[in-house]
Amino acid sequence: MTARLLDGKALAEKIQDRLKVEIAELQPDRGRAPGLAVLMVGDNPASAAYVRNKERACERLGMVSFGQHLPATATQAELTAIIHQLNADPNVDGILVQLPLPEGLDGNALLLEIDPDKDADGLHPANLGRLVRGEPCLRSCTPAGVMEILRDGGIDPAGKKAVVVGRSILVGKPIALMLLEANATVTIAHSRTPDLAAVCREADILVAAVGRPLMIGPDYIKPGATVIDVGINRITDQTGKGKLVGDVDFDRLLDVAGAITPVPGGVGPMTVTMLLANTVESYRRRLA
Ligand code: NDP
Repeated sequence: MTARLLDGKALAEKIQDRLKVEIAELQPDRGRAPGLAVLMVGDNPASAAYVRNKERACERLGMVSFGQHLPATATQAELTAIIHQLNADPNVDGILVQLPLPEGLDGNALLLEIDPDKDADGLHPANLGRLVRGEPCLRSCTPAGVMEILRDGGIDPAGKKAVVVGRSILVGKPIALMLLEANATVTIAHSRTPDLAAVCREADILVAAVGRPLMIGPDYIKPGATVIDVGINRITDQTGKGKLVGDVDFDRLLDVAGAITPVPGGVGPMTVTMLLANTVESYRRRLA
């Protein structure tokens, strides 16, 4: 048996094509394109690459990107003032602050300043609260991407046992809530869970969001289970070359799992896509 590949990259392209058409259709009526503002502070090279990626994706879809790049010396007050301006700007539908921020800046406090209806990352407590309550909201991007991968793969969580390894507010908790909403029976495991492998072996759907390279081996998997690997870890291979791997030991799981996401090319591309989808959703609501 070889696991079915859940191709997040192909799905991301499909959804982005759909968004592009949607934007082109809405724009003549609305008189403007959707706008996304990404705030970046300092010169972290990884962050700069992520921001470029987001801005290019915006352009491809016909969205306007209102990038703001500030020096590492920017103050909390300056950033707060910029967020307030963006909140009030009718051309901006989505706002996000690229993390990590330089030492001394409080990302959480900045998040609270973002208008929840423009919270493109879906991480504002108002949006997380709406998610808990089962109300419409801008959904956190990585978890929303995981749910899209399941939907596209024809994997309905209803009635299934789902185990989420990881309980971060960014990934683990919101994924668990979304799986619960989709009627799975959900267990959230973490670093204090005894006999993690046995807990994971119960899962029909296993989501790994841990940040430990290749931690989830075949002994964690019920034969035929769906495995979603959120982890992105940079390791050095035997030849000394850097390479990206997930939390899941992909190669060794291919004969055990029923369906599996690769890294790269799985959940990662879906995260950016859901950010764009949230911005379009906010645009649609703003102008409805
Ligand atoms: P965090 O470090 O915030 O959370 C990690 C979670 O894993 C914690 O809940 C922790 O438990 C748990 N954990 C750590 N070690 C173990 C262990 N040995 N056994 C069981 N549980 C463990 O990470 P994030 O949630 O932010 O990210 C997780 C991974 O997902 C990372 O690799 C990150 O790079 C990746 N990521 C990928 C994205 C994408 O687009 N694909 C987007 C965001 C993140 P405890 O709470 O007890 O400490």
